Amino acid sequence: MVISMRPDATEAQIEAVIRKLQELNLDSHRSTGVNRTVIGAIGDISQIDTRDFEILEGVDEVVRISAPYKLASRQFKSNNTVIKIGEVEIGGREVVVIAGPCSIEDSEQIDKIARLVAASGARILRGGAFKPRTSPYSFQGLGENGLKIMREAADKYNLAICSEIMDASQIGLMLNYVDILQVGARNMQNYTLLRSLSKLNKPVLLKRGLSATIEELLMSAEYILAGGNQEVILCERGIRTFETYTRNTMDICAIPVVQKLSHLPIIADPSHGTGIRDKVLPMARAAIAAGADGLIVEVHHDPNKAVSDGAQSLYPEQFDKLMKELEIIARAIGRTLGI
Ligand code: PEP
Ligand code: MN
Repeated sequence: MVISMRPDATEAQIEAVIRKLQELNLDSHRSTGVNRTVIGAIGDISQIDTRDFEILEGVDEVVRISAPYKLASRQFKSNNTVIKIGEVEIGGREVVVIAGPCSIEDSEQIDKIARLVAASGARILRGGAFKPRTSPYSFQGLGENGLKIMREAADKYNLAICSEIMDASQIGLMLNYVDILQVGARNMQNYTLLRSLSKLNKPVLLKRGLSATIEELLMSAEYILAGGNQEVILCERGIRTFETYTRNTMDICAIPVVQKLSHLPIIADPSHGTGIRDKVLPMARAAIAAGADGLIVEVHHDPNKAVSDGAQSLYPEQFDKLMKELEIIARAIGRTLGI
């Protein structure tokens, strides 16, 4: 943290800043220039609120130069974190695709989609049993019964399972069926839930919040890491902007930005990122080209009859073609796609 004093700051004001740093067990480095004095704070500033210094007499500007997250940062761990889910590794050389319906609807539906996405090369089955719907009157998910039929289908086609957890009270139940616990965009800053997940030894797929900055996403990951759970997969799923032609604005650039800042794997969700089927395909290709460690994509055998997100769900034939294209893109950037 660097504290820049005003040109007219008095010696007493400069000393007051240094004293405050000392009270917080921070060392200081004072440098007096021609126009002004700049004070560098040395030590752990993770607990510091920069505003506490901004309000001191004579202070012009306070800039935090180190990231507020630590465990999630590349400085803390330089090599990429690879998360193992059975035989699948997320964050390694292979690009991993998670695919399936938005919601689990019935056993025939989930079996059919699991078979199709597995045949196309998906490694993990997605499907919501607890759905965060904008309206309380919309379908809310099948709950435990949904997880049960999803597990049967996944086992039949040798797939792992990723499903959303909405509340800490669902942890015990979810652990019986699910391989990756998905934290949805709406819960990215539900710190009570994140703390509960931090006590587990289970991969968590943490989606970027609807209006969250990349730093806020990494701070949420920090909650999970700080409690002891090192298995966090980040997910860019689009953010809300002033644009109306797409459901969200897919922030592809977040992928290389996160990869520079953090060692955690990051995947992309072009389905929620765009909200429209024909936009999902180019954004899926772009995300892999940009270096994403994988994708989570909604696929439905009959999207027009899907109980949720039919408009953004790919037809199985589209998904199959996409996987073949992704294989070529992955190869072009020195990665693989196990299809
Ligand atoms: C989902 O994956 O079905 C979902 C609800 O996603 P998000 O939390 O990104 O909106
Ligand atoms: Mn959905």
